[in-house]
Amino acid sequence: MGTNAKRLVILGAAESGVGAALLGKQQGWEVFVSDGGKIKEEYKEMLNAGGIAYEEGQHTIDKVMNALCVVKSPGISEKVAIVKKIREAGIEVCSEIEFGYRYKGDSKIIAITGSNGKSTTTKLTYHILKEADYDVAMVGNIGYSFARQIAEKPCKWYVMEVSSFQLDDIKDFKPDVAVLLNITPDHLDRYDYKFENYVASKFLIIKNQNKNDHFVVNKDDKAIHDYITKHSIHAQTIYFTMSDNNIGNEGGQISGDHLNILYNGENLNMSIHDLAIKGKHNQYNSMAAGISARIAGVRKEKIRESFLGFEGLEHRLEYIATIRGVEYINDSKATNVNSVWYALESMKKPVVLILGGQDKGNNYGEILDLVKEKVKAIVCMGLDNKPIHDAFDGVVETIVDTNNAKDAVLASYAVAESGDVVLLAPACASFDVFKNFEDRGRQFKEAVRNL
Ligand code: ADP
Repeated sequence: MGTNAKRLVILGAAESGVGAALLGKQQGWEVFVSDGGKIKEEYKEMLNAGGIAYEEGQHTIDKVMNALCVVKSPGISEKVAIVKKIREAGIEVCSEIEFGYRYKGDSKIIAITGSNGKSTTTKLTYHILKEADYDVAMVGNIGYSFARQIAEKPCKWYVMEVSSFQLDDIKDFKPDVAVLLNITPDHLDRYDYKFENYVASKFLIIKNQNKNDHFVVNKDDKAIHDYITKHSIHAQTIYFTMSDNNIGNEGGQISGDHLNILYNGENLNMSIHDLAIKGKHNQYNSMAAGISARIAGVRKEKIRESFLGFEGLEHRLEYIATIRGVEYINDSKATNVNSVWYALESMKKPVVLILGGQDKGNNYGEILDLVKEKVKAIVCMGLDNKPIHDAFDGVVETIVDTNNAKDAVLASYAVAESGDVVLLAPACASFDVFKNFEDRGRQFKEAVRNL
């Protein structure tokens, strides 16, 4: 089997795969898309409209192995047979952001990664740049894929949410501003259960940066700190922190009730109570977004205005309703233990906590103290609730088992009293019972509204 000149094969036909296909076609590649599962109707229509060949429900070896370059969807693991075959044959594999990067022209990229807070920080940074009238698009896991945006509506600035899976297959990809929010255990199933592999993957975001680029990074994160002390960084590093450590002339800091962003000889100082999005985690996210926007050249007054007006995202500590004095909050996006820590940390009332789903090897020890302090009952919502019982039996007096959103809400309603809060913050993936975290959040909201 020979390799065809400029044959691009794409594995996985969702947002990133279809984006890469459209861009590849536009750039003169012979494109073939192969998806082992079913392709969504909207993506099929796009492929058809673009005259792009594809298959679904299988990977035809002959049509894949003659590629010059393979763009692999971030959702496909290295353990999949076709991926192993491609690797063995030595065919170049790149991620969709790498492919897009080759055609980005002289645009600028702010790329945001971390275990938690990526979407919120991406949206907030985009919001600031948009309010400042920049020619900007929000790409990556929210919005269009980078490649699709370049193919359909190229911009001067891209604010990009980047996952570790996207970073795993970069070669030259280099953001002008790289943001690293935090690193706590997540997705370890994809990293041979080695935390250091996951950490290294996150740090790929700065791999190609040089002294003209910026690296905006959390100074309080242990995993980040440990890595930085052992590796050299080429970009200009700007820290944000909640401690009173000296951050130098530039960076973000929370001092008392005030948020400060120092950059270029100016200080943006405002009360944390004026931030539209609440919770400590959002103070981190706000510092990261604010510093990035300053680097991009946005005036501090504009950033302050954007902080006041930014509404946050659905499924992230989203207030739904108060029923008989009980507040209901949807944090369906809390898919790991660390995000539940921040959710609990920001709760001011006794909590009925809805936990559970597809466990990713969770260590609940991290939230044990907060659970003891704030949680009066746990409602499990998953097919296998054993890990939750193992962690909290004897710690929390009331633990109820359910396996769907409606029953979980009814059980919560039964145990909650006026003055409590019912918090959906599952610490798990949703795929055992729901299509995805959005589906889980919506079913939860509907069940609450039907009470
Ligand atoms: P991501 O895109 O990285 O998953 P999101 O902004 O969607 O991040 O938030 C995911 C979950 O983590 C939500 O439950 C949210 O409340 C919580 N969260 C947001 N920012 C942070 C942060 N900086 N640290 C810890 N948890 C956070």
